[in-house]
Amino acid sequence: MHNKTIAEISRDLAAGVYTSVDITRELLARIEQHDAQYNSFITVTAEQALAQAAAADARRAAGQASAWTGVPIAHKDIFCTNGVLTTCGSKMLSNFVAPYDATIVDHFNQAGAVSLGKLNMDEFAMGSSNESSYYGPVANPWDRSRVPGGSSGGSAAAVAARLVPGATASDTGGSIRQPAAFCGLTGLKPTYGRVSRWGMIAYASSLDQAGVITRTAEDAAMMLNVMAGLDAKDSTCMDHPVPDYTATLNDSLAGLTIGLPKEYFSRDLSPAMAEKVRTAIAHYEQLGATVKDISLPNTHLAIPAYYIIAPAECSANLSRMDGVRFGYRCDDPKDINDLFKRSRGEGFGNEVKRRIMIGTYALSAGFYDAYYNKAQQVRRLIKNDFVEAFKEVDVIMGPTTPTPAFPQGSNSDDPVAMYLEDIFTIALNLAGLPGMSIPCGHINQLPVGLQLIGNYFDEARLLNCAHQFQQVTDWHQHTPHDLA
Ligand code: GLN
Repeated sequence: MHNKTIAEISRDLAAGVYTSVDITRELLARIEQHDAQYNSFITVTAEQALAQAAAADARRAAGQASAWTGVPIAHKDIFCTNGVLTTCGSKMLSNFVAPYDATIVDHFNQAGAVSLGKLNMDEFAMGSSNESSYYGPVANPWDRSRVPGGSSGGSAAAVAARLVPGATASDTGGSIRQPAAFCGLTGLKPTYGRVSRWGMIAYASSLDQAGVITRTAEDAAMMLNVMAGLDAKDSTCMDHPVPDYTATLNDSLAGLTIGLPKEYFSRDLSPAMAEKVRTAIAHYEQLGATVKDISLPNTHLAIPAYYIIAPAECSANLSRMDGVRFGYRCDDPKDINDLFKRSRGEGFGNEVKRRIMIGTYALSAGFYDAYYNKAQQVRRLIKNDFVEAFKEVDVIMGPTTPTPAFPQGSNSDDPVAMYLEDIFTIALNLAGLPGMSIPCGHINQLPVGLQLIGNYFDEARLLNCAHQFQQVTDWHQHTPHDLA
């Protein structure tokens, strides 16, 4: 059962092949038995999951089942879950039991899904390797000495290790696409505003977007069907029609125009990676697409602009963690300043502190125009590159990452080297565009991701492109070698 996709489980439950309680029990047993070697879960909600599964089976018996009734998933620990520990990978929230559900968590509950628990992540979603978590690093199931990517490393490792068929995740600069690439999975980051951010703990609010990590594009479409749509509780959530994302998966790609940005095939990309991506593009040509060389000339400015804007926004967002209202509080504070200082000093990890300091500096009087305003202007240039490109092409493709998964510890002492890992993913967040990563090959037995970038609200086309590729290739079906 644990090798089934969401779509297969949905069909099996409908056909009565097994019950939701059966599969929930099996996955909980797998987590118990195997997750010690991956560390992908922070909290397993076994009791709640079994209660949800039993309720789902009862609804089905009463003839009230829908596609999601009884299907198991798990949530990145950035999403608030009512009555369940919600840590965001930080000591700061290590005692925080959320008093409400994030909108998307509520949507999955309403749809009848079963949540197995909360998944590990880089602290406050800051990182590309899942090494900054207070709950310890996550191992990549393809090679446990390597990182699973970050910040949604727990989501990716759990799906790759077949502990859960799909997981929610979030992407501020690549945190869905990069771990999906490193773990041989399908990752979807929707358009900014497509999915509610309410109850998703804020890192950089103008960049953050909730999405999914699954094995197949079909499963990603099923999850997006549950998540997408207007939410009055998130003022940046857009009132844009929500199609059935599974309805167009089988559309033909004849006549599709794919743009290949020359900047994505630069010296940052290893020749072996470039070769895998080009082979994938050749599959698309066989499917009827035409390829066009394009340029996104401001690509090189994406990382510098991001590392002003994201820290600036995080310094504001994280100021609410002060040891007073919720979260970690230091012992025996002498006075209110001591309380603030020591609670924040002890509660936040090094990467988070580094970013709060950079952000506070960039926003301070005298530097605001030089850094923050300038970064916002650069952001507009990056967005304009995409707007121009999409006048000529339907979808843009390239690598998701410069290399396959790197060894644990290899970038830990060099934050700038870590930041450069996001060179191909970050521009999308600055522009607010949707993107996907799908498996397109292996190098030294490690998965490689193909990145698909779509125009605003063009998720259906991305999913269609990803699904068609998965009809003619089987990279998404490969399993980590030593998987039990
Ligand atoms: N790796 C990037 C960062 O560290 C992106 C993280 C994310 O998308 N949440 O900020």
